[in-house]
Amino acid sequence: MKVLIVDDSPMTLALAQARLRDENLDVSCASGGVEGLVKAKKERPDLILLDLKMPDLSGYEVCEQLKSDPLLSAIPVIFLTAADSTEDKVKGLDMGAVDYVAKPFDPVELCARVRAALRVKRLQDLLNLRAQLDPLTELWNRQAMQDRLRQEWARMSRHEEALSFVMMDIDHFKRVNDTFGHPAGDRVLCAVSQVLTAQCRESDMPCRYGGEEFAVILPDVNSTAAAHFAERCREEIEKISLSAQSRVIHVTASFGVADSRDLHAREELIHRADEALYRAKHAGRNRVVLWECNEWASDYVREGQS
Ligand SMILES: [Mg+2]
Repeated sequence: MKVLIVDDSPMTLALAQARLRDENLDVSCASGGVEGLVKAKKERPDLILLDLKMPDLSGYEVCEQLKSDPLLSAIPVIFLTAADSTEDKVKGLDMGAVDYVAKPFDPVELCARVRAALRVKRLQDLLNLRAQLDPLTELWNRQAMQDRLRQEWARMSRHEEALSFVMMDIDHFKRVNDTFGHPAGDRVLCAVSQVLTAQCRESDMPCRYGGEEFAVILPDVNSTAAAHFAERCREEIEKISLSAQSRVIHVTASFGVADSRDLHAREELIHRADEALYRAKHAGRNRVVLWECNEWASDYVREGQS
């Protein structure tokens, strides 16, 4: 885990750095408040040790800026303070610091407090991750997808890159549940999720949109490439074969694909992919339909085998 030490005293920096490196931590240093804020933004450490009295910005001012930045506010802060006054400690803790260490510090105590703060940070990270995952399939959930789409939309607008969105729905999924029971239906959802994950690049984001509906965000991908991606997924889903009650379950899925060209809001991207999915369903299911240039690109409707 990464620790950033912000202190204007070279002695303190050297001592704390040496001790924390012995703990197998990735340690970086900043010799003032301004540099500390820059490094915090760049490195996103798991913990910040922050001196209270520095010439450029005080520890309080740095802490205030960290806590007001949504990307940095979750990083725990431990104040390093020469001031032994209760008032300083209370003020620091009230500002959101998790702990303080009085200088000159005992290196053993410093390391123990750092370990304790990092234990809590690890648990918090784990809880945050869990809150973003669908518990059954372990794909990203709908809320995480909305957050990511907001970020990708902003990035795409800045760099004028492509952004594609795929909506997918398992065909006649209710029949699977009705015929084979919900545990079998859950196995189908997991198998489909694995197909989506296997077809995704590191930068893509597969998610469970709800029920038997899935979505994939494909950054830097135009709709033609996204349709090819969807077609690969469709073919792989057709190959899924699960046994239940001495019978074999086969499923198919329908896909709607859209990209961000000519769009002004990310909601329109979801809406277009959803419309394309609706059309795929009504054209007979087990197919990919691409939304393009205000017209239905029917040349990319590919029939399934069955
Ligand atoms: Mg100082």
